[in-house]
Amino acid sequence: MTTLRYLQGYPEPLLAQVQSLIDEGRLLQTVTARHPEMHAVRSERALYDYVCEMKARHLRSAPPLAKVAFDPKLHVLKNALGTHSAVSRVQGGQLKAKREIRIATLFKEAPADFLRMIVVHELAHLKEREHDKAFYALCEHMEPQYHQLEFDLRLWLTARELPATLPASPDNEDSNGCV
Ligand SMILES: [Zn+2]
Repeated sequence: MTTLRYLQGYPEPLLAQVQSLIDEGRLLQTVTARHPEMHAVRSERALYDYVCEMKARHLRSAPPLAKVAFDPKLHVLKNALGTHSAVSRVQGGQLKAKREIRIATLFKEAPADFLRMIVVHELAHLKEREHDKAFYALCEHMEPQYHQLEFDLRLWLTARELPATLPASPDNEDSNGCV
């Protein structure tokens, strides 16, 4: 039994289906077949433009973003896929908040749907702090498939951490330098 740490809280029958895909060695291919499209957001500049474009489309009235960045430490050290923060400081007698969104670097290699989902999630936090009903309603407003995408993202995260299944081979003779 694999520990499905990304899928805690989902109903048992669903988890049983996931487990059988894992047992059959088909989880990653099942997820990537559902989300075949990749994105071209490789740099911090491209990410900033991507996020601002989505914000302009859905959340025009939300406060502007000072910074958007890929963060290689988020997922590994903080166990987070994205973060949002507002650094407040007084500027010209006014209290200003510099808002910042960070996205785990692993999304550079993720299907386009999953990057969109995490960006929707962090943008929604510009308006709703908690993970409550209003928050998820806003996510669904920006991305009607939000809940399905979040589930599939969790499947993808699960799949990429499974031990690689190597095809059984009768000997190792061909394993050196044959690339
Ligand atoms: Zn959140």
